[in-house]
Amino acid sequence: MRGTFNTVKRETIQRRLILDAVKTLDIHATAEQVYEAVAKEHPTVSKATVYRNLNRMAGAGELLSIGVLSASARYDHNLGKHYHFICESCGRVFDIKPIPPEARGSIEGMEDFMIKSLTFGGLCPDCQTDYKEE
Ligand SMILES: [Zn+2]
Ligand SMILES: [Zn+2]
Repeated sequence: MRGTFNTVKRETIQRRLILDAVKTLDIHATAEQVYEAVAKEHPTVSKATVYRNLNRMAGAGELLSIGVLSASARYDHNLGKHYHFICESCGRVFDIKPIPPEARGSIEGMEDFMIKSLTFGGLCPDCQTDYKEE
């Protein structure tokens, strides 16, 4: 009983560390970035532990996992309904809210699908400046 309790307690603490790291980073961090932030304060926590917990927490709805095509998943502590803009140049992720009215309903021809996330791609203001200078 005691062993089980300690395991549960340790996992709760690890999850809290991970959630704190995601919140503090506040950049829609990748698993790697979350691990680096956690390891800075708690060097005994392994990378596998962080990755496993991120997956579980996303599965349990404690974090939002933003799938990014051809890149690492990003993790978001903001569980409120919002969409994302990913800069194709610097890779930063921005929150989009409020949700554009046309995106709230279902998409024509996809009424049977439940849309849980929507991601826009393009260039952020900083990267547009670079683009114009070239
Ligand atoms: Zn950018
Ligand atoms: Zn977000």
